[in-house]
Amino acid sequence: SNGLMTGKRGLIMGLANDKSIAWGIARACADAGAELAFSYQGDAVRKRVIPLAEQLGSRIVLPCDVADDASVDALFAALEKDWGKLDFIVHAIGFSDKSELRGRYADTSRDNFRLTMDISVYSFTAVARRAAAMMPDGGSILTLTYYGAEQVMPHYNVMGVAKAALEASVRYLAEDFGREGIRVNAISAGPIKTLAASGIGDFRYILRWNELNSPLRRNVTIDDVGKSALYLLSDLGSGVTGETHHVDAGYHVVGMKAVDAPDI
Ligand code: NAD
Repeated sequence: SNGLMTGKRGLIMGLANDKSIAWGIARACADAGAELAFSYQGDAVRKRVIPLAEQLGSRIVLPCDVADDASVDALFAALEKDWGKLDFIVHAIGFSDKSELRGRYADTSRDNFRLTMDISVYSFTAVARRAAAMMPDGGSILTLTYYGAEQVMPHYNVMGVAKAALEASVRYLAEDFGREGIRVNAISAGPIKTLAASGIGDFRYILRWNELNSPLRRNVTIDDVGKSALYLLSDLGSGVTGETHHVDAGYHVVGMKAVDAPDI
């Protein structure tokens, strides 16, 4: 352990399996000495989350469907009872009907627009407000976003629109909670093969494209994201709030790769 998070307690939301970005972040925080609690959605996921939580010495694993206010309230009531205070929280949750993560954005239905915005955007605000109420000594709040919020990416569609709103939420929440010493940031991760990503059309092609065209000429891993999350969640990020930090092997800075690049 590097001790960066010794004495800190944090809630990790969105762990589905050992491919999840939440797992990379949880491991980095636990390695740094943090005490963790996990929330999961649904019984099928519970079976996978329990042994992972145990691996990191965590005894608090609670259900939470972020689409349901009562479920979110119950999660924070349980945490409040057990821990009282909270130092950090990670929101690694997103959802859209995968039939609309292909084809045209223009064809998005009203129902799936609402659902995507509710689970992928509003849930962050709902969770941040309850978490902040448990952070009397300040804290750090983190969510996950993607470059499709800023630029058009194939098949990302309504999720890109939702991530743009999520990034705006990060800025508004940073202002709301800043005076309490609570920081709010997002990591914009490059493409990583996870359960959620497998719903996106041509995802393998997107991975390959990023590998060939990013400055580092590789894709990022959940450990890359974990290490950057550790910076934002720990005291190392003490002066940073309202930020969307790219952990994408530099992909977002490239307009066009040189034709004489040595590797092509
Ligand atoms: P994942 O499938 O491992 O995680 C998504 C999580 O969202 C799952 O644990 C799922 O149970 C949870 N979830 C969905 N609906 C929920 C609900 N109603 N209530 C509670 N939880 C719910 O995939 P991931 O790629 O690790 O996704 C984590 C975050 O990272 C998402 O916000 C995603 O958009 C973002 N992200 C992913 C990538 C990528 O390429 N994988 C890139 C950038 C950002």
